[in-house]
Amino acid sequence: DDGGPKYRIEHSTSGKAGCQQAKCKREGVKIAKGELRLGTNGWWEQEQKFIMTWKHWGCVTPAQVKGLKLIASDKPKAVPGFAELSAESQEQVRLAFDQEKVVDKEFKDIRLDLAKGSYQDDGEIRNVVGYKVEVAPSGRAGCRNPMCKDKGVKILKGELRLGFATMWEEYTSWAYKHWRCITPTEIGALQDAHDHGMLKGIVNIPEHYYNVVIESIDSGEVIEPLMPEAPPPKIPKSGKSRTSK
Ligand SMILES: [Zn+2]
Ligand SMILES: [Zn+2]
Repeated sequence: DDGGPKYRIEHSTSGKAGCQQAKCKREGVKIAKGELRLGTNGWWEQEQKFIMTWKHWGCVTPAQVKGLKLIASDKPKAVPGFAELSAESQEQVRLAFDQEKVVDKEFKDIRLDLAKGSYQDDGEIRNVVGYKVEVAPSGRAGCRNPMCKDKGVKILKGELRLGFATMWEEYTSWAYKHWRCITPTEIGALQDAHDHGMLKGIVNIPEHYYNVVIESIDSGEVIEPLMPEAPPPKIPKSGKSRTSK
């Protein structure tokens, strides 16, 4: 697992993150909630995980703008998070792409209405920064479809699932849905991700699941995969508390 996309641009979901630019960092300057910011996803050896660190838009360097252009193949709208920005912020990103640097260093565009958390309770997963398809390696993850969630339905080991990389505060985390539970809107987003070679895991799943994914993407409708064969029932061990996640 490589922790998702390298960059993300958004209206800050909290006022807690510090800016990584040297001077801001020294002075402990935070990024305001709702303010336009750029996240860079990097591996932190000490923490043994990927962590997204942030900069004020005005503190983004020309080298980072070039890095963004590179991963987005010169298309601003291919930058993760771009679609959820205000029109004004989108314009600043376009300008930066044109000039290979941030044009207005004072630009903040604080938009509390666009400062969304990752999860809202209608089951739609927001602020998605990446997708992956995979065979569930265990039966621990729940499904984010409200119907499954209400009933506590888990995704069984061996079932085809879709993983959504989302941002929560400064961290990347994964949420999952049964493949059969994804919505037409999500299929649309997947088509886009697949076209850009950004649908992870697609080459690693067995052929019958691969066909289900490709057929779903091509038709725009969710094709239901066959259920995996039921695993042998587990005999509960006494004296141990059940694991949950
Ligand atoms: Zn800064
Ligand atoms: Zn489900």
